Amino acid sequence: MALVVMKFGGSSVADADKIKNVASRVIETRRRGNKVVVVVSAPGDTTDDLITLAFKLTENPDAREMDMLMATGEQVSIALLTMAVKARGTRAISLTGSQAGIYADSCHTRARITKIIPTKIKRELVRGNVVIVAGFQGVNPNDDITTLGRGGSDLTAVALSAALGADECRIYTDVDGVYTTDPRMVPDARKIDVISYDEMLEMAGSGAQVMQGRSVEVAKKYGVNIRVLSSFAKTAGTLITGEPDKENQMEAAVVRAVTLDRNQAKFSVLDIPDRPGIASGIFGALSADGINVDMIIQSAARQRSNDISFTVSRTDAKKTAEILRKLRGRTGASGVAEDRGVAKVSIVGVGMKSHPGVAANMFSALAASGVNIEMISTSEIKVSCIVSEKQSDKAVSSLHKAFGLGAKSAKRKRK
Ligand code: ADP
Ligand code: ASP
Ligand code: MG
Repeated sequence: MALVVMKFGGSSVADADKIKNVASRVIETRRRGNKVVVVVSAPGDTTDDLITLAFKLTENPDAREMDMLMATGEQVSIALLTMAVKARGTRAISLTGSQAGIYADSCHTRARITKIIPTKIKRELVRGNVVIVAGFQGVNPNDDITTLGRGGSDLTAVALSAALGADECRIYTDVDGVYTTDPRMVPDARKIDVISYDEMLEMAGSGAQVMQGRSVEVAKKYGVNIRVLSSFAKTAGTLITGEPDKENQMEAAVVRAVTLDRNQAKFSVLDIPDRPGIASGIFGALSADGINVDMIIQSAARQRSNDISFTVSRTDAKKTAEILRKLRGRTGASGVAEDRGVAKVSIVGVGMKSHPGVAANMFSALAASGVNIEMISTSEIKVSCIVSEKQSDKAVSSLHKAFGLGAKSAKRKRK
């Protein structure tokens, strides 16, 4: 008897009909003789709505209470889905993160899983129940609920698959796999059949929402093969794995996908003295407040001063501006420029390692479309550019086309 972990995202459980559809898929898998563990997210936009509500009450909501609040969304889903499954005559039980034995640290709103003790899950499986677990939540050493960062139900599913030694980890969502770019933005995007953990990690880290980055890290660490599938259509989806098959490696695309991250803000600290300790003062203060800095550029010194520009998540922009204002006396900067209207566009592909000139091709494709590049960063398998958000859609579609990623160009190549 195989053990299958099935995770359904928020859009798959957004209303009663969708919950019934999920119940059917779960029951079907159980009837095939599998043991089934299900992980669900909060319905539809519930998590966003709860966050908005909290910010209507206070500008700076308490992190412990935020977790208490956000975790309620997933509890709505597990209870409703379990009712729907039981109503159809299949045995099932819902479990919160804590009941499922998911232990996490105390870093509220972005906790890390420390261990999983799935005793209760195993007991319920032996009793013949489908076990329906609340995604996105764990319990800290103080017995408080902590949440695992946005998109964290993916992490719950992957971590449970590793802890239970599941035969399959299936992530069901509202698209039928991982595409060469967001298929909602570029209709010509093509579904990828098999993708490596490393490429998926870079895609997730640069804005492809379809999988949470941390869940892919855990999958890579524990060798969990993930299949991304549609909750609605019955297609083969995309396999995320460590060893894409040989045929696939031979055909390895130089650029596998284009991603876009709109959650970006750019800051420039102007005319700071060119002496040791300035950068560490700025970035030390930001990191002490939990702000993740992404790209950094320091201009060449002129008359013993220079500018430092960097990007952070737009959600951290307000906090960043405050910190820079407080630091101004100490850095001796003449001012700070802030731009929240930027986005990061990236190309990702393991094939880049062995193909020089990919970055140059990216820059010429952007130039040909009249897109101005404000900042650049590169890694072994990714090149990212900061562009104006207004031009970001154009940037994505022109790169997708220039690297021959679309369904149309694939058809042309086959001819
Ligand atoms: P869920 O609610 O199931 O967790 P998400 O909204 O987190 O779903 O992720 C699915 C969405 O990710 C899709 O609706 C799609 O718009 C977006 N997406 C972004 N980039 C990609 C990509 N490269 N391939 C597939 N989907 C993508
Ligand atoms: N409900 C949580 C979120 O919206 C977790 C998830 O959907 O994976 O981020
Ligand atoms: Mg998601």
